[in-house]
Amino acid sequence: MMPVMFFGHGSPENAYFYNDFTRSVSALGKTIPAPRAIVCISAHWLTEGTFVTGMQKPRTIHDFYGFPEKLYGINYPAPGSPEIAREVQKKIRRAKVGWDTKWELDHGTWVILRLLYPKANIPVVQLSIDYYQPPEFHYELGKELAELRREGILIIGSGNIVHNLGELDFSDLDAKPFDWAKEFDGFVKKALDKRDHRALINYQKLGKLAVRSHPTPDHYYPLLYAIALQDKDEGISYPYEGFHYGSISMRAVKID
Ligand code: ZN
Repeated sequence: MMPVMFFGHGSPENAYFYNDFTRSVSALGKTIPAPRAIVCISAHWLTEGTFVTGMQKPRTIHDFYGFPEKLYGINYPAPGSPEIAREVQKKIRRAKVGWDTKWELDHGTWVILRLLYPKANIPVVQLSIDYYQPPEFHYELGKELAELRREGILIIGSGNIVHNLGELDFSDLDAKPFDWAKEFDGFVKKALDKRDHRALINYQKLGKLAVRSHPTPDHYYPLLYAIALQDKDEGISYPYEGFHYGSISMRAVKID
């Protein structure tokens, strides 16, 4: 049975940065058995309805603006897998999963996978986030991917546990995290440790703290897909804990 992971991806520049975060993701890739394929739920693929990438050779999308030129030259040439995409479609009953041939691999997926599996030799399929659905929907849909884990498939959620771009301290990657950012990250960690999935689904009950940590929910939802896959006897560990630019939690979560 493959583990399930959630990664904070933060800035696309983590693709070439050498820091504690990128080092720990790279190290992790060497400890997990090589999967048959990867299914990634990225904060950057938001759709109306749920879709799966069906292309044989997905291209790398540089879906960001204003970064150094060299970032736009980085590609992650992993193969796709129409076969696994079809399996994903079959497993999900809660929604009719559409077949996509346009999206390719966005930076939520490739920045992390390039650190984890630099050889780019494992097939990758992306599953989109239906942005018109509530948190509960994402959790319940995530559960339907459980069998894939037994078939040697690594499921990864890629977002950030705290994600407020409006309050970034962009001058310093290692800026001291804001108190509210630490508070929300701490709330998530505590709920994960206690296996309190209900609290994580209902995070909006935290009111202002939730809104400040996630002015929009896109980077939070991938976490719900990951925790939905936690079996009764499985634990949680944190391969990386920390913040970038004061308002981005880079916490990584491993379920196994
Ligand atoms: Zn992002």
